[in-house]
Amino acid sequence: MSETWEPVIGLEIHVQLKTETKMFCRCRNGFGGGPNTQTCPVCLAFPGALPVPNRRAIEEAIKLGLALDCTIAARAVFHRKNYFYPDNPKAYQISQYDEPLCSNGRLAVPTADGDVTIGITRAHLEEDAAKNVHVAASGRLHGATATLVDFNRCGTPLIEIVTEPDIHDADTAKRFLQLLRQTVVELDLSDAELEKGSMRFDVNVSVRPAGSGELRTRTELKNMNSFNFAAKGIEREIARQIGIYEAGGEVQQETLHFVPGEEDSPPIRSKEEAQDYRYFPEPDLVPVHPPAALVERLRAEIGELPGARIGRIADTLSFYDADVLVTGGLDRLWSALVGAGADAKEAANVLSNQFVAAGVDPGTVNAAELAKLVAARAEIPRAAFDEALSKAGDAGFAAGPYLEQKLVADAGELDPVIERVIAASPGQAEQFRSGKEGLLGFFVGQVMKETGGKADPRIVNERVRAKLSGT
Ligand code: ADP
Ligand code: MG
Ligand code: ZN
Repeated sequence: MSETWEPVIGLEIHVQLKTETKMFCRCRNGFGGGPNTQTCPVCLAFPGALPVPNRRAIEEAIKLGLALDCTIAARAVFHRKNYFYPDNPKAYQISQYDEPLCSNGRLAVPTADGDVTIGITRAHLEEDAAKNVHVAASGRLHGATATLVDFNRCGTPLIEIVTEPDIHDADTAKRFLQLLRQTVVELDLSDAELEKGSMRFDVNVSVRPAGSGELRTRTELKNMNSFNFAAKGIEREIARQIGIYEAGGEVQQETLHFVPGEEDSPPIRSKEEAQDYRYFPEPDLVPVHPPAALVERLRAEIGELPGARIGRIADTLSFYDADVLVTGGLDRLWSALVGAGADAKEAANVLSNQFVAAGVDPGTVNAAELAKLVAARAEIPRAAFDEALSKAGDAGFAAGPYLEQKLVADAGELDPVIERVIAASPGQAEQFRSGKEGLLGFFVGQVMKETGGKADPRIVNERVRAKLSGT
């Protein structure tokens, strides 16, 4: 007897804000300084140093809360979360506990089968820890001979977003994360770069018999620094848990460390049911009372959100194209291209393929010039088209010089080359005539090579076929 299993997934996401200064002191916030140069008595936890909250960080957290349709608390409280670790000099982290700034929200995630709405339990503000640097290690603690601490990151403003266990497949989890990333990037709160760690996420996974509403024991996966790894890790974990239940076993609550390319995710430590963080209200900070006028001003600053744009664009293009454009930050340029006369589908193809490969910032592109190139794509050599795209963000970029490099489509110019190529391989020409259609590509390829890729492949195809068949 084999049951059907329903996966249950909840996400915890940390986003580093790119404010000028840290959460509770005036140290510069951001990468770049030498180790421990961006520090002060507050973020190094000298006795008697007092925190002062960063107004900008509070506003940005409220703004994200509004974008996630959260209730903004009339009164929010900072708590101390106590734990010992070398990256935590105060031996507590200032975080939020039972009175977070934002709660009870939702994010509608467009999918090919319509929107899936994921509940947002809360979004709160806290400070980041310092960074432990394991020296002489291969990136992991194992094998390290020493651990150094860089306190530059200590005190960086973080927003933690916690979802309800509303997600039931890996692909939706991935889409949620991508959409959330694009949302914080567009709100200009964070660069949310996974490789830099300015966006990090943990994934909670359990499975239950389909149709049951129970919440079974979950495991938590850490260390997934790409959206694809997150999806892979989730899928692997779902399969592992189903295997355990079907073999009559029980899933253990634990934290697992995702290792790309390996079959297993080794446990980091088994997680206690109720970790004793001894939360208590931070006595050095007063509660935050966001004024209603501030909340309304922030609400008015929010433009059309990426999820809504995916839905709108999917009316014109496929859902898949709309998703790639919006989560890639390309849809505004796409709209501008279409406005300048480019074909909608063609523009989407160019942007999500060659344009992405060229690595150009879409915000710097002159859409009218790029639209001319998109329209002429089939008529200019691939190499010229790619070069044009790589320059499309340069000041004063013009399509004209590239449009002049038209593909050769003139039969008078192409026929002598085609005749030469056919005459050089009489055997293959004979085989083609007796039915080996696949050999057409052999001849077309040689003509393209002889013309240095400048021949129009559609015309070459036609002419080669005509010549071979003697028509
Ligand atoms: P903790 O305080 O231990 O981190 P939370 O209650 O804050 O636990 O939940 C953390 C995350 O785990 C949330 O995203 C939540 O949706 C998710 N979660 C809770 N229970 C389950 C479960 N049984 N299966 C999958 N995810 C779960
Ligand atoms: Mg939690
Ligand atoms: Zn400081």
